[in-house]
Amino acid sequence: MKTLLKEGSVVSAEGAALCDVLIEDDKIVKTGVGLTDADAQIFDVAGKLLFPGFIDAHTHFDLEAAGTVTADDFVTGSKAALLGGTTTVIDFATQYRGESLSSAYRHWLTKAEGKSSCDYGFHMAISDWNENTSKEIGDMIDLGVSSFKLYMTYDDMKVSDEEIYEVLKRLKGVGGIAGVHCENSGVISALVKEEKALGHFGVSSHPKTRPAEVEAEAVSRLLRIAEIADSPVIIVHLSSKEGYGEVIKARERGQKVYLETCTQYLLLDESLYELPEPECFKYVIAPPVRKEADRDCLWGALASGEIQTLSTDHCSFSLKQKLMGEKDFTKVPCGMPGVEDRAVLLYTYGVAAGRITLGQMCRLLSENPAKLYGAYPRKGCIVPGADADIVVFDPNAEGVISAKTQAYNMDYAPYEGFKTLGLVDDVYLRGTRVVGGHRITAERTGSYLYRGKYSL
Ligand code: MN
Repeated sequence: MKTLLKEGSVVSAEGAALCDVLIEDDKIVKTGVGLTDADAQIFDVAGKLLFPGFIDAHTHFDLEAAGTVTADDFVTGSKAALLGGTTTVIDFATQYRGESLSSAYRHWLTKAEGKSSCDYGFHMAISDWNENTSKEIGDMIDLGVSSFKLYMTYDDMKVSDEEIYEVLKRLKGVGGIAGVHCENSGVISALVKEEKALGHFGVSSHPKTRPAEVEAEAVSRLLRIAEIADSPVIIVHLSSKEGYGEVIKARERGQKVYLETCTQYLLLDESLYELPEPECFKYVIAPPVRKEADRDCLWGALASGEIQTLSTDHCSFSLKQKLMGEKDFTKVPCGMPGVEDRAVLLYTYGVAAGRITLGQMCRLLSENPAKLYGAYPRKGCIVPGADADIVVFDPNAEGVISAKTQAYNMDYAPYEGFKTLGLVDDVYLRGTRVVGGHRITAERTGSYLYRGKYSL
C-alpha cells in the first residue's frame, strides 16, 4: 500500500521546506519535490505543515496513585494523544516496593497492549533498589527499556542519595539513563506540617509547601551526585528559574544534563491556586505551576536550546477525584491532562507568538525525544527509512480549548478558554491513517516501541 502526500511543507529541525512524501506500508520510502507514483493514493496537503509524529516522553496512563487511578487509561489517553499529533508516548512503568522490574514491565505491557491507539514505550521507575533490581537493569535494556525514572520525593517512590548514586553508576555501565523528579522531600514535609499547624488545609497552601527552592535544592544535589558518578542525567518537568540556574552551573562544570519542561510550566500561573474551590483543585500538580519570571526563563531556555524536550506529564484526575482532597490539600491527587493540547499550544504560544521557531518546535516534540530516548531515526524525522509517523497540521485553523470538545476522559480542561492557532488534521501512524479531519479513523493500532541507547 502506497500513500503520496503532495505539496506539503515538511518540518525538520532546520525549518520547513516544500516536499512530497511517499509512504509504502509502514515506512517513508521517498521524499522530494514533484514525486509521482502511479500506484499510490494521493493526498493534496498544500498549505499544511508535515511534522514527524510527536513523541510525548512523559505520560501516566492507567496509573494508580493517591488511592485512585488516573481518569485516562491507554484507550482514552492514546486517542487524545493522536488527536494532538502525538504518535508515540513513553509512559512510566512503575516498580512497586517488593516487586521486580520484570513484573512491573509485564504489568505495564498488560495495560497498553491491544488498547493503545498510538505507539508506546516505557521508562522504568525504580522504587526498590536492591541487588536483584540492579541485576534486572540489563534485562530491561534487552527489552528496549533504556531509560529509568527516580523520584526524590513521594514516600512510596522516593530513593535516597545513596541509591541515586548507585543507580546512576549502574546505568552508566550499560548505556542507560535516568530521568529524575527533583524536589526535596524532607523540606516539603516540614512545610506541610507548618501550614497545617496554622490551620491551613486549602489548596492555596500547595505552592507554599513546594517553593522553587525545594526544586532547586534537589536539582543541585542530584547534579552533584551525577558529577561524582560521572554520569549524564535528565531532569524531568523542570518548573523554576532557580532550578534552571543549578543546571547551568552544572553544565559550566562540564556535566551533561538533559532538560525537560512541560506545557503547564510555560502557560499556567500560580495565582490559579488562589481561585475559589473547586476551581483551584484543577491545577494541583507537583512541582506546582509558578510565576511569570519562571515562565519567561523557561521560554528563553527553549529558544536558546538549553531545554531539550517538552512533554506533558499527562496524569489526569477528574474534578471528582481531585475533591478527595477537599479537606486537606495534601490528599488532592497531583496531576493534570495535557497530551492532546501540547503541540497546538506550543505552536500558538511558541511559534506563532515568535518565541521559538518551527524547527525548534520540531526538535522539542519530535527529534530530541526520539534521540534522547533511543528511537532515532526510526522516529523523530521525515526521511526515507523512518516509520511513516506524520502529522498533517493546518497552521491557519483557529480554535478554543474546551472540556466539551476534548477527547480525554475528563470533566475539565486546564487550558479552558485558551485560544489556539493550528489544528492536527490528519495523522499517520506507521503508514496507517489513524486521524482524518481531526477524527480518529483507526483505533488500537499502537505497538510497543523497542528503544536503544540515548544519542543526544
Ligand atoms: Mn510525572
